[in-house]
Amino acid sequence: MAQRYVRVQTGDGQIHYGLLQVDRQVRPLDAPPWLEGQPTDFDLAPDSYQILAPCYPSKVIAVGKNYANHAAEMGTPVPKEPLLFLKPPTTVIASETAIQYPFQTGQVDYEGELALVIGDRCVNCTPEEARTKIWGYTIANDVTARDLQKKDGQWTRAKGFDTFCPLGPWIVREINPSARLQTFLNDDSNPVQSAQIDEMVFSSDVLVSYISQIMTLLPGDVVLTGTPEGVGAMQIGDRVRVAIEGIGHLDNFVVARESPVAKKVEIP
Ligand code: MG
Repeated sequence: MAQRYVRVQTGDGQIHYGLLQVDRQVRPLDAPPWLEGQPTDFDLAPDSYQILAPCYPSKVIAVGKNYANHAAEMGTPVPKEPLLFLKPPTTVIASETAIQYPFQTGQVDYEGELALVIGDRCVNCTPEEARTKIWGYTIANDVTARDLQKKDGQWTRAKGFDTFCPLGPWIVREINPSARLQTFLNDDSNPVQSAQIDEMVFSSDVLVSYISQIMTLLPGDVVLTGTPEGVGAMQIGDRVRVAIEGIGHLDNFVVARESPVAKKVEIP
């Protein structure tokens, strides 16, 4: 089994990066692993911590329509260069936690994606240099309010609600280039999305290089590499799983965002 790099919170509120062991114990590191964190001399018992998203990005940069069959299902051509958008860090949630369904939307879609975790400051990198800046790989769900994406003409609101970026459960250092990505809803064993990550239009190295010519990527930043065909809606009460061979699976469930009536802001 590949080494799994986690971030956990203990009962007293302490947050640790760490190594997940086969027996579910976690060996904390004294710093994030991409900042040369070294193993400490104690372990955390399985019932003493909660898994967090595996990093705390300064920004999440996402790529739209990076699989040809998904661009086609959206009725659009494949972009000639990567189509970027941002998700705020406040969208990020851990595996096994709730996606909140906002009251402003009537269609919340899953988008299973491979996520890249940046390990080193990255500015104006070539694709060859960019490859060395990708520290590891994890799983993301680029949750999207599809109706608002169409209505607004740009994607800030549709992609930016709190909880709209499930991430994790851990990071691995290597991934098979032809690893399969699949998304499952509830108890259905047939995936709603299934593709190999080498079907991407723009590869991970090219994406990181391209982004680094626009904005500085910092250690712990996350790049979402796009979703394959098969996107679809989730309902309140649904469970969603995104699985990638060689990493594991990211599991979340959908709840109503609390007190929609009390919190609704009337726009004159
Ligand atoms: Mg996406």
